[in-house]
Amino acid sequence: MYLVEQAGGYTLIDTAMGTNEAFIVLDQGLSSIGAAWTDIKRIVVSHLHPDHTGLVPRLRELSKAPVLMNRQDAILLDQVTAGPAKAEELRGVLVRGGVERNLADAVTATYTKIASAFPRFQPDQFLDDGERLNSRIGPWRVIITPGHAPGHLCLYNSDRKLLFSGDQVIEDITPHIGWLPGRDSLAEFLESLERLSKLEVETILPSHGQPFSGLKPWIERAVRHHEDRCRQLEELLAGGAQTVAELVASVWRRTLRPLDYQLGFTEILSHLEYLAARGRVFAEGKPVERWSARAVSVHGTFSSAIRKP
Ligand SMILES: [Zn+2]
Repeated sequence: MYLVEQAGGYTLIDTAMGTNEAFIVLDQGLSSIGAAWTDIKRIVVSHLHPDHTGLVPRLRELSKAPVLMNRQDAILLDQVTAGPAKAEELRGVLVRGGVERNLADAVTATYTKIASAFPRFQPDQFLDDGERLNSRIGPWRVIITPGHAPGHLCLYNSDRKLLFSGDQVIEDITPHIGWLPGRDSLAEFLESLERLSKLEVETILPSHGQPFSGLKPWIERAVRHHEDRCRQLEELLAGGAQTVAELVASVWRRTLRPLDYQLGFTEILSHLEYLAARGRVFAEGKPVERWSARAVSVHGTFSSAIRKP
């Protein structure tokens, strides 16, 4: 969470989980600078995940401030909080990906529990790429950076070379690449990084951890990590793996908790779709059940389609 001074009060960037503990921390933080809830004039949300949106309804009520976010995430938030359809979609994708029913049930149950932590609200205003938000230290430009979430946004202040990076850039980890049907989330994430790499940034203000510097080396490491993962998947498929479940088991050679399993599974799926869109791997079945490193030609023979590293 960040508070940025603006005319007549503050912009709050992100909220925390919708817990009382988080609320008390924010309450104490405001008191320590002599501010009241009504001094918050605007609530900007980087993306829909509950550790960023959880307190939005409560804080909007207290501050009467408008809530701003990108439309894509508002649409997905609506779907996640609408009922069991998204959970059923996940179960279907897991089962088709070769996950045993018991594990698919456990992962879906955990997903449902987490989905219940997403708050249900409608934003007051949608933020689009290129919009500007004024503050005491100059304007912040909205940069829409899909990948981790479809409407994830960063804010850039060129006067101070500051980047509020949300979950797009976090110091010690590479953020999870979300999987959504019909989207090439990894390509979107990499394109987002490409855009951010063109900015002059001295300090990165992430949603998790401390502010840090070194955006360009961070981006280079993240790009390398995803290319390494892509090559690893190509090799595993060439070695005979076929389902996403087999790939998860080979990449993480340990028992994963249901949430970690879901994150690992969807991360691999988004990499496979990225590779398939570039002719580097091939999907079989409609809807997709198996993946391969080779395409089946119309004559029924196999042709190698593995791009050598
Ligand atoms: Zn997130």
